[in-house]
Amino acid sequence: MFNIQKFSLHDGPGIRTVLFFKGCPLSCKWCSNPEGQRAETCLMADGNKKVPDSRLYSIEEILTTCLQDRPFYEESGGGVTLSGGEALTQPKFAVALLQSLREKGIHTALETSGYAPAEVFNEVSALADLVLFDIKHYDDSRHVEGTGVHNDLILANLQTALVEKTPILLRLTIIPGRNNSEEDAHGFASLLRSLGIETVQLLLFHQFGERKYEALNIPYAMRGVPQLHKEDLEEYTRILTAAGIKCFI
Ligand code: SF4
Repeated sequence: MFNIQKFSLHDGPGIRTVLFFKGCPLSCKWCSNPEGQRAETCLMADGNKKVPDSRLYSIEEILTTCLQDRPFYEESGGGVTLSGGEALTQPKFAVALLQSLREKGIHTALETSGYAPAEVFNEVSALADLVLFDIKHYDDSRHVEGTGVHNDLILANLQTALVEKTPILLRLTIIPGRNNSEEDAHGFASLLRSLGIETVQLLLFHQFGERKYEALNIPYAMRGVPQLHKEDLEEYTRILTAAGIKCFI
C-alpha cells in the first residue's frame, strides 16, 4: 500500500477508510497518484531526504486500522474502499481483505479501472458491496493515447458485472483536452445507453497530484492545465441528461 486514508468522503458512501494498493496496469497521463502506478516500492523526495513511497501491510494490521473507525462507518453509512493504483493487481490480498471485512460486518467498495483478467475481476468484485467503476474513454484509440491500454477488456468486464447485477456506480473522470468536449459527452452518452446505464458520477480533473511527479522526478503531461469546476460541465451534463442519463458531480 502507498497510503491508508481515514475519514474520506469521496470514495463511496459515508465516511470511509481508503486503502491505496500499489501497482496499476494503466499509465493515465492525468493520474493524481503516480506513486501508485509502479508495483515496487520507489523513493520519493521529502525535503532533502528520499523516503520509500509504500510498505507491506498484513491483513491484521489493516483490519485493526479500519476497525478503529467502525463507529464513524455506522453513523454515516460508510466503510472501507479498496483503491490505488489498482487493487486488482494484488487479487489474493484483495480477496482476503474483502472476506475479512465482510466477516466483521464492514461495508466495502472496490474502486477500479476494470482492467484485469476476467476471472480476477469477477472474483474480487463479487466480494465487494459496491464497485466504483471508472471509465476513461469511450473511444479505443483515445483510450490508448491517454492510458496506454485498450478499453476492450474494461468494457467486457463492465458488461459481465452488469449481467451479474453487481452493484456498480459508474464514474467518468473528465479531463481537459482528453474527454471534455461536447462530442465526448455524446460519445459517452451513446456508450452508456448501449450498456443500459442510467446514472453516472462525474469526477473533475484536479491538480492535487502535481507535486508528486516532482517528488518522484518523473515527467507530468498535465503541468499547468487548469482544473475543472462544476460550472465548466453545464453543457456536458445537459447532453448526458438529455440522453436519459442522470449525472451528479
Ligand atoms: S487507473 Fe487510476 S491509478 Fe491507474 S494510472 Fe489511471 S488514474 Fe492512475
